[in-house]
Amino acid sequence: RAKEVPGSHFVLYDSTLAYEAEQRMMMEKDLRLAIEEQQFFLEYQPIVHLETGRVKGFEALVRWQRGDLVVRPDMFIPVAEKSGLIVPLGKWVLAEACRHASLWPADVGVSVNVAGEQFKDVGFVAMVERTLAETGLNARRLTIEFTESLFSVDVDVVRGSLSRLRALGVKLALDDFGTGFSSISHLRCFPLDTLKIDRSFTESMLTDEREAELVGVIMKLSQAFDISTTVEGVETESQLEFIRKAGAGDVQGFLFSRPVPVDQVPSVIAETRNRQRKNEALPVAASAAIV
Ligand code: C2E
Ligand code: MG
Ligand code: MG
Ligand code: MG
Repeated sequence: RAKEVPGSHFVLYDSTLAYEAEQRMMMEKDLRLAIEEQQFFLEYQPIVHLETGRVKGFEALVRWQRGDLVVRPDMFIPVAEKSGLIVPLGKWVLAEACRHASLWPADVGVSVNVAGEQFKDVGFVAMVERTLAETGLNARRLTIEFTESLFSVDVDVVRGSLSRLRALGVKLALDDFGTGFSSISHLRCFPLDTLKIDRSFTESMLTDEREAELVGVIMKLSQAFDISTTVEGVETESQLEFIRKAGAGDVQGFLFSRPVPVDQVPSVIAETRNRQRKNEALPVAASAAIV
């Protein structure tokens, strides 16, 4: 509870909890306004097919233009989720991403992150369908990314929604795999197209043998289930070499490109096409030098 200090304009708090609650309320208020005023924009990070070097698609990542500051999603998505504001925000993200992607080459897809809270909304799948119709984006070019936290939402509802999305042709990716309560049963019980192996593995696989082993196992397991893999957070050539040996798949990370504004998407696509034409190894630096 806040206490006025006599004779000053400072306010003391007798618990950090109260302080945090207040911070969250303030952020919630700002977020609400930000949604009304559309203070958000999307950046896009390429997802690259390792063997061919082709850009398969881009992941849409939301940013909040808060005055002069650009706020990263980790700072406000949790608040948006707790307050339910993720529903209107997520709806905007999806529509914006589909609108953008409908202007890209037809073999380039778009991935959109969807929070568990959005799945709880009974109209979610219908909203996705409407958005695809309105933007003219082929459902097959859309991937919806969700995390394992989704499985703590009502399992039957989730399974139902995922199946309906898939029936539309939308692809499904399990994001940040290996960080939550990962379970093999998730692979058995839910329709999935892609596993995104979390960046924490990419960070540790070169120094920790057991982590490296785990990455190999996850890749093999995915193959057995006919699920593709995307390795997140690839920053170095040596990580790339490791992934190549472990079974390739798709890769995403700063080594290829940081998330870029939408107007740079065509040049990212063109760059990789040029590289492919010249038969150059991926990415920029030649991997032949590494061996
Ligand atoms: P995510 O879905 O796992 O997205 C990947 C994050 O890793 C992005 O952070 C990206 O910039 C970062 N990243 C990519 N490559 C590298 C790399 O090589 N090294 C390092 N250090 N980082 C890399 P970002 O944009 O800050 O997003 C953070 C998280 O916020 C996302 O993690 C996602 O969970 C969430 N998020 C972003 N946009 C949305 C959205 O529209 N809706 C929802 N619900 N969540 C979102
Ligand atoms: Mg993601
Ligand atoms: Mg991820
Ligand atoms: Mg991640």
